[in-house]
Amino acid sequence: MSDWNTRTKLIHEGIRRSQYGEMAEAIFLTQGFVYDSAEQAQARFVKVGDDEFIYARYGNPTTRMFEDRMAAIEGTEDAFATASGMAAVNGALFSILKAGDHVVAARALFGSCLYVLELLGRFGVEVTLVDGLSLDQWRAVVRPGTRAVFFESVSNPTLEVIDIRAVAEIAHAAGALVIVDNVFATPVFSRAVDQGADVVVYSTTKHIDGGGRALGGVVCGTREYIRGPLETYMKHTGGAMSPFHAWIMLNGMQTLDLRVRAQTANAEALARALDGHPKVARVIYPGLDSHPQHALAIAQMGAGGTMVSAEITGGQEAAFRFLNALQIVKISNNLGDAKSIVTHPATTTHQRLPQDQKDLLGITPGLVRISLGIEDGRDLVADVLAALDAV
Ligand SMILES: *Cc1c(COP(=O)(O)O)cnc(C)c1O
Repeated sequence: MSDWNTRTKLIHEGIRRSQYGEMAEAIFLTQGFVYDSAEQAQARFVKVGDDEFIYARYGNPTTRMFEDRMAAIEGTEDAFATASGMAAVNGALFSILKAGDHVVAARALFGSCLYVLELLGRFGVEVTLVDGLSLDQWRAVVRPGTRAVFFESVSNPTLEVIDIRAVAEIAHAAGALVIVDNVFATPVFSRAVDQGADVVVYSTTKHIDGGGRALGGVVCGTREYIRGPLETYMKHTGGAMSPFHAWIMLNGMQTLDLRVRAQTANAEALARALDGHPKVARVIYPGLDSHPQHALAIAQMGAGGTMVSAEITGGQEAAFRFLNALQIVKISNNLGDAKSIVTHPATTTHQRLPQDQKDLLGITPGLVRISLGIEDGRDLVADVLAALDAV
């Protein structure tokens, strides 16, 4: 692996060129591979070499380019590409857990991640949820026999920042594997492994594609874990990424650093414009001094990120009026897209949660989540301020 900086790696790392010497990443849209002889087929099923493939559910040259590039920017030995972010979360956990194991997870999680944890419970894995911000709670429940801890480094939608280093220290003392969902932090701002994570998962559907085109996910970790339990689990349960989607991700990644920095500049500008606005009860942005984990966010990520959440005064009715008045910012539920997107979590992404859970997580009727795109920040701020006038 090279010692290039991220922006260079995003362009050049992982490329495998065919005999034609094509400049752009080629798409190998093939499920299977032809062997020169029966003996070669037999040998490959005994041991797959570094540049050899058997079946696209196990691996494919285009998918491997994407995996190598992800491992390079994440600073891990290896990576495995999955059909979606949820396939990555599912695989990261299910591949190593068995009945009787114990898992500790932060409570503020993406809804589908909570479902996966519920599912583990059905198979005899004991799951304990904690307030991820409280190191005392982590300390109180992590014990010998805790096989893994799992959390989002920046939570959705309330943008709480969890101290990866501190939680990893507690987990490692008990011998637990630290699995971090790093979607909101992005690989541009956070190298979670440098802070103690053992396994990092991304939904590549978000910033890595960056155009809202293709579902995808990736699990990054040691070679022993990725080509051991994780690959075995993924290849037999069918969660591999399609080579076509890997090709889309490879293209998207070339501009990842540029986009995420432009998105973050827009997020900072918007957070400042909303701070103290009479129709906004609270702005949540890790890059603002007022954020409860501002110092940690800067230490861990170096920036506030691409997402801004805000509590609109006047509850759901006011929030809906705000959403409906936006012109540039689109109502949707993806994030990390080049296009700016607004979400009302209480009635969409987190609708399923019972009220007491919503209260606990701070998902109030007036809360809106904005994923900043790469449009001109002045237009975005003007769009949001005009929509607030309509509230
Ligand atoms: C979107 C998301 C997921 C799930 O990813 P998909 O690609 O939609 O399956 C998991 N975790 C977080 C934090 C996400 O934002």
